[in-house]
Amino acid sequence: MVRVRFAPSPTGPLHIGGVRTALYDYLLAKKHGGSFILRIEDTDQKRFVPGAEEYIINALKWMGMTPDEGPGIGGEYGPYRQSERKDLYATYVQQLLDSGHAYYAFDTSEELIAMRERKEAEGIVSQKYDATVRLEMKNSLSLSKEETQAYLDKGENVTVRLQVDPGESISFKDIVRDQVEFKSDELDDKVLMKADGLPTYHMANIVDDKHMKISHVIRGEEWLSSTAHHILLYRALGWEDSIPQFAHLPLLLKPVGKGKLGKRDGAKFGFPVFPLNWQAEEEPYEGFREHGILPDAAMNFLAFLGWNPGTEQEIFTEQGLIDAFSLERVNKSGARFDVDKGRWFNQQYIMAKSDEELAELVSPLIAAEGLVADNAFVQKMCGLMKERVELIPEFVTKGRFFFESPAEYDQKTIRKKYKAENHDHFLAIQERLNTSEDFTGEALQALVKSYITDNELSFGAILPILRIVITGTMQGPDIFETIALLGKEEAVARMQKGLTFITTNTNTDA
Ligand code: GLU
Repeated sequence: MVRVRFAPSPTGPLHIGGVRTALYDYLLAKKHGGSFILRIEDTDQKRFVPGAEEYIINALKWMGMTPDEGPGIGGEYGPYRQSERKDLYATYVQQLLDSGHAYYAFDTSEELIAMRERKEAEGIVSQKYDATVRLEMKNSLSLSKEETQAYLDKGENVTVRLQVDPGESISFKDIVRDQVEFKSDELDDKVLMKADGLPTYHMANIVDDKHMKISHVIRGEEWLSSTAHHILLYRALGWEDSIPQFAHLPLLLKPVGKGKLGKRDGAKFGFPVFPLNWQAEEEPYEGFREHGILPDAAMNFLAFLGWNPGTEQEIFTEQGLIDAFSLERVNKSGARFDVDKGRWFNQQYIMAKSDEELAELVSPLIAAEGLVADNAFVQKMCGLMKERVELIPEFVTKGRFFFESPAEYDQKTIRKKYKAENHDHFLAIQERLNTSEDFTGEALQALVKSYITDNELSFGAILPILRIVITGTMQGPDIFETIALLGKEEAVARMQKGLTFITTNTNTDA
């Protein structure tokens, strides 16, 4: 039975790398008819951020990845918030203490700092709390039974640490990285329970993976070295038979240059690195959703950040991804967060949407700009514009002329293309539009083109100026379809206004 958990800590908004992890969890679970579980790892109260859990849940919802089990959803293995499972961890911490795999430590933070400074001064590279130093510290291994009890009674700075024996080799198979090996000498005596009585990530994580019958642990590469500690914990608790399979995902790298993708790279590269807007007081982050990226495009894009199907195919439906996905095809090397590719995916998904679907997405943005248009109009406009936009808001920014007469005209084109001797022709075309009975794009095209040929004019002398007076810009869809959609009254009024603008301005130029 495949049971995969996504286990974020609610310490802030979910980074897009976290969404990628959740996606791989989701795809693996769906592929094998298994369960996708959301577990909130909130035992670090100092780093707890209000609203972060809600953000995580909303982000998964937006992506269409609803967990099968999780907070607010339920399931057989709940509760799914670690802060609600405190007693369970305490039992196993006690078991480790009793079996001699863990010990109490009472060192204050000042004493820990002093230890590190002492080691540094002695020229010792590793300043870890480990077998080499533990007997110099204040813990149940170095102190007598009575002293230990006295500290426990006092109840200050009581922590529990894992006792890592030196000279051991810990190896495990990672689906992405194959055989991975760590020497126990490199590992510190990790804190398992903090002075506030709550477990650390390591302790809670493996107790829950065991209790929730997790089959595969998929997480970012930064957790690879923790896995060695986790293996030791599984062994110490006698749970070696239930060690899940591990898959550590490659880092997401900056779009250009060196280093991993950071939370400020969204603003830097003009493409968000969070799924939804996050309005923290100090620093707001933009989300995929608000940037105008479609959730299905996001899914397709993220799937390819670290995985490939082994074929040339790039566009996948959700079911297609589920069928094609396998952890064996996840790459070891970092995945570049290619923002151009992200836009490309989005464009493909926009083009594939119906005009009705697009209108639903675009209408609220039109209203937010204080512009007015009825639904039939918006649908047609979306149909005309959809091959020209990469992001949903561009329907409004690039297509603004559909909703209001241009406030500015592309002067460069006017200077290049407008000839005063053609002015009467433009007026004549305006008149023809005004009297045309058939106001379809096709009819208008025939009408204008035949006027041009009949009068032995060139298309280049007429069509760019016609476009400018109607839309203000050279960028836009078919001009006749645009005129047809705007309607006779509006189109004629725009011609009039545009031509007046041109004559006034060209005259002063001359
Ligand atoms: N709570 C950890 C995190 O925030 C989970 C890592 C894991 O999946 O084990 O990423």
